Amino acid sequence: VGDSKDYDEEVKSVCPFCGVGCQVSLKVKDGRVKFVEGIDGPANEGRLCVKGRFGFDYIHHDHRLTKPLIRRDDAPAKGLNVDPANWQTHFREATWEEALEAASAGLKGRGRDVAGFGSAKCTNEEAYLFQKFIRQGFGHNNVDHCTRLCHASSVAALLENVGSGAVTATFNEIENADVAIVIGANPIENHPVAATYFKQFTKRGGKLIVMDPRGQALKRFASHMLQFRPGADVSMLNAIMHVIVEEKLYDQQYIDAYTENWEAEKSHLAGFAPEAMEAICGIDAETLREVARTFAGAKAAMIFWGMGVSQHIHGTDNSRCLISLALMTGQVGRPGSGLHPLRGQNNVQGASDAGLIPMFLPDYQTVTDDGVRSAFTDVWGSGDFSAEKGLTVTEIVDAIHADQIKAMYILGENPAMSDPDVDHARAALAKLDHLVVQDIFITETANYADVILPASAFAEKSGTVTNTNRQVQMGRPAVAPPGEAREDWWITTELAKRCGLDWTYTHPSEIFAEMKGFMKSLDNITWDRLEGENAVTYPSLSPTDPGQAIVFSDGFPRPEGRARFTPADVIPPAEAPDADYPMILTTGRQLEHWHTGSMTRRSSVLDAVEPEANASLHPSTLRKIGVNPGEMVQLTTRRGSVTIMARADRAVAPDMVFLPFAYVEAAANLLTNSAVDPYGKIPEFKFSAVRAEKPAAI
Ligand code: SF4
Repeated sequence: VGDSKDYDEEVKSVCPFCGVGCQVSLKVKDGRVKFVEGIDGPANEGRLCVKGRFGFDYIHHDHRLTKPLIRRDDAPAKGLNVDPANWQTHFREATWEEALEAASAGLKGRGRDVAGFGSAKCTNEEAYLFQKFIRQGFGHNNVDHCTRLCHASSVAALLENVGSGAVTATFNEIENADVAIVIGANPIENHPVAATYFKQFTKRGGKLIVMDPRGQALKRFASHMLQFRPGADVSMLNAIMHVIVEEKLYDQQYIDAYTENWEAEKSHLAGFAPEAMEAICGIDAETLREVARTFAGAKAAMIFWGMGVSQHIHGTDNSRCLISLALMTGQVGRPGSGLHPLRGQNNVQGASDAGLIPMFLPDYQTVTDDGVRSAFTDVWGSGDFSAEKGLTVTEIVDAIHADQIKAMYILGENPAMSDPDVDHARAALAKLDHLVVQDIFITETANYADVILPASAFAEKSGTVTNTNRQVQMGRPAVAPPGEAREDWWITTELAKRCGLDWTYTHPSEIFAEMKGFMKSLDNITWDRLEGENAVTYPSLSPTDPGQAIVFSDGFPRPEGRARFTPADVIPPAEAPDADYPMILTTGRQLEHWHTGSMTRRSSVLDAVEPEANASLHPSTLRKIGVNPGEMVQLTTRRGSVTIMARADRAVAPDMVFLPFAYVEAAANLLTNSAVDPYGKIPEFKFSAVRAEKPAAI
């Protein structure tokens, strides 16, 4: 933490952690970021959480990559075995020319042998370039990123039923609501600045309905806390909607004007009386009825959801229910109303918009449409690429095991930590005959690399990012990258040239201009405008319109302008607890640690606050298995076992375990199930059968 006058320069940029997208001022002295303050961005109005304020010094960490690295001929066999402070046993330093030649030699001309994972931590321009590199360079769509592990099922349901994968209203609209549902999200830990708006909403009398199998700090502010049985989301939500139908609390005028398939939804809901559902979801019928009346009686109501909704094999069905609830009550398109999946990574919205997904080109234009593809190849100046939807994150891992993919380019993602059943993913990475990793540290994934290309942190680069609110914001460089590290767009461009592509980009603004040609969502948003205004929300209706906080006031981007009700059936979790694995494991983030921990565990303040891997269990569970808080507990699923420090937490139900996924020494994903939702292809991170026990004495 610096003195308020102890800096030479201040640079406006955007926090690199969560999808809230808080604007920051980076205070710089002697080529280093000394401290950070919040500034008046549209999402944060000067506020920051502990990560945004104190989690920045990873950019100056000793582990930063400063030169390209090439795997040594005499390196040990590929595995999770590289010490980031003593990597010389595995890699040797190389010049950029040598490293780019080595990287491209293993990719060039290999067509379908190659797949790519881009990153939601990179800018929009970098995401666009990455998907272009795979599609133009290798002729197919096997390119994906961590949206597949995050909100892919929410996006699938939103595209299906309202015609757009983004939020219908900014989270700040809650100030105009009188009722809000927060389900499967823990904003005080994961979207902390958004949570401050939720708390303010309750202070002025707004009714907050929190629904989550795990208790959470927002409970203190809630009018209703529904701690339902894990996996029972569809039963609970259908029961609430059943009451709205039964008591005729729906908005018939809105339904008639703006929706389709209402009769099918109505008859489907007849089978979900609260009295029949209460034992399944663990919430008594009267509470379900009261919540239904509260939501349906609101003048303006919003629904927020997180990965507790999306990370299930029925994640798309969960989101379908939330969309139906909003539609039947007419709670879309007006001030204080709307659907808002709280996006995770700082640029997961933007990376998805930019086409970093296997089924869609920029602006969700489908790869299966010949006209769409030819519009791209006309500008790209190259031949057609495949009309077949590409493979997703977990499908690419399986394709490596099946010898269908043999080389990968991974930019800023860490599948050796983030994928479900991660031993399976690690074995796939080890099996590749060529792996190029572009990152700022030797991540767990970089352990398996043949070539490592040193990239830039957020404070070292120019580029735009798009937050959960659809706000496109300008990130600016405050300090130079360390050593010979370079901006990601530059690295991808140089790699593309060596793979035979005729790319001539010299600045991200040129890439942004090319993207605009394909993306109507960026109409009226220019690089110069963002330089001047810092943020513009899409859609922006004119060169001076700051953008539309609320969309779909008069119809939806679907046939005849109508949103759709899609009835959701009950699909049980893929793995039921049994005598061997009697409890339920759920995974997630903590306030201080971000995703796979590569940044926050190298941030001195955050690491000091939360230094040790830990799992949370109810005190009664710990007593039952004979483990005291602070002692080690062994957690075992059908995939693997970890031994980790136990924390007593009454917010976790007695038959549950909560395990954060930031800790490599007790990696949560050694335990998780790789079963996926059939539509979004998102893994069921929120439900695995697990056994918790006292470890055997050593
Ligand atoms: Fe950064 Fe998110 Fe915290 Fe804002 S709420 S400071 S974007 S981590």
